[in-house]
Amino acid sequence: EKCIANQQSHGLNAFITSLPRAGRWLDRVKEADRRREQGTPKSPVDGRLISIKDNICTRDLPTTCASGILSKFTSPFNATVIDQLEDAGAVVAGKANLDEFGMGSHSTNSRFGPVKNLRRDASGQDLSAGGSSGGSAVAVAADQCYAALGTDTGGSVRLPAAYTGTVGFKPSYGLISRWGVVAYANSLDTVGILGKKTSSVQDIFRILNQHDPRDPTSLSAFTRSRILSQLQSPRLASRLTSKPLRIGVPIEYNISELAPSVRRAWLLSLVHLQEQGHTIHPVSLPATKHALSAYYVIAPAEASSNLAKYDGVRYGTRAEGPDSDGQPDGYLYANTRGSGFGEEVKRRILLGTFSLSADAMDNYFIQAQCVRRLVQRDFNTVFAAEHPLAATQDTGRLEAEQVDILVCPTAPSSPPRLSDVTVASGSSPLDAYVNDVFTVPASLAGLPALSVPVTSESSENSGAGELAGIQVVGQYGDDELVMKVGELLE
Ligand code: GLN
Repeated sequence: EKCIANQQSHGLNAFITSLPRAGRWLDRVKEADRRREQGTPKSPVDGRLISIKDNICTRDLPTTCASGILSKFTSPFNATVIDQLEDAGAVVAGKANLDEFGMGSHSTNSRFGPVKNLRRDASGQDLSAGGSSGGSAVAVAADQCYAALGTDTGGSVRLPAAYTGTVGFKPSYGLISRWGVVAYANSLDTVGILGKKTSSVQDIFRILNQHDPRDPTSLSAFTRSRILSQLQSPRLASRLTSKPLRIGVPIEYNISELAPSVRRAWLLSLVHLQEQGHTIHPVSLPATKHALSAYYVIAPAEASSNLAKYDGVRYGTRAEGPDSDGQPDGYLYANTRGSGFGEEVKRRILLGTFSLSADAMDNYFIQAQCVRRLVQRDFNTVFAAEHPLAATQDTGRLEAEQVDILVCPTAPSSPPRLSDVTVASGSSPLDAYVNDVFTVPASLAGLPALSVPVTSESSENSGAGELAGIQVVGQYGDDELVMKVGELLE
């Protein structure tokens, strides 16, 4: 009840559809409370309120993707992740605001208005909540729910976590079902989890980490057990239990544009890990500098194809008006898509359609796929654990040079002011893309990555310590190790 009251009082616009103050959900919470008292809870999240990003389908509440084109859509079925959470006793706490179809970095590209961060700057100005899962992150930060689901295609769970001071986890690609999750860029899309603590994120991950026959990219039970047995080999198993871990510091992430508070938080995290007996090793991921450009070719290309179905005939709210009445189909499509999609989504459709066109394909899409391979190879070179799905393994490297885990910032700066990220303030779309520079490499490689809030100690100049998101990235399948290191940093 307190969470629902918070949803209605803060004016943060974290929800597109919030729960009514009373209803069936409240009975389910009370039943779970009874089970908890009797010592027989269904799971660690029995009776907990979980907010759901509004691009994940729910039968009982609309799923709008923050888009005009789906503003009247309610799915006839639940996404697999919703069924899994409800089977575990969790209660959907409402549908969280986002950037339209997941496209954005500040949760401002929403038909339902921008999300506001609970945090403000020193002069009381509203800050960006990050995006695209900004509503999910703010709902967690403002105690409007216990935890939240988001989606992370290029950083959309980790960036909002970093900007709101919450924990955000993107699992290895293919572990959590995407069935019923509205596709943005299929080869990159993952369902991610936001919570106040790594342990609550872990509880939810363990519920969702299962094969789903309805998602063709969901890892089979056989592959899952093969990955587990590889990770339990004598060489790797000890990492979860004993010290020391070899922590890699990717030097390419130490860019000159890094905000001093973020660099300080990064340094403090490394010192903290070293004090606990772990060892720090500089590593190089040379393809990192091309990752952002490759991502912004691949993701819009896939998006342009995915969004083609919203034409007002097969899917999407049909635009009313004289042009859609008795006119050739082209008008109906154009009016529906022209009025249904927002500016950023249209930009991505144009970008993607261009880069997939015959004359441009070789220069853009194919090049970006090559860069994607290089990014993946960089990670495989630095991790001591081999990629369990790679066809060929790198050989001939000295084990001494390799690491168990990487620790780097989640974003180059602290959250910008909301007023500075609007088009009216002269901010270009490219400015928003740059926020993703540290999150897209793990997305291109499908690796597990977690953002945890770390306080950069107060310095003489800045006064109070600021929160910055620190990112932990692991080899494919090493999700539990990533969360273990996240806990060490909390
Ligand atoms: N900001 C990135 C984009 O706009 C990431 C989005 C996401 O992960 N859904 O594409």
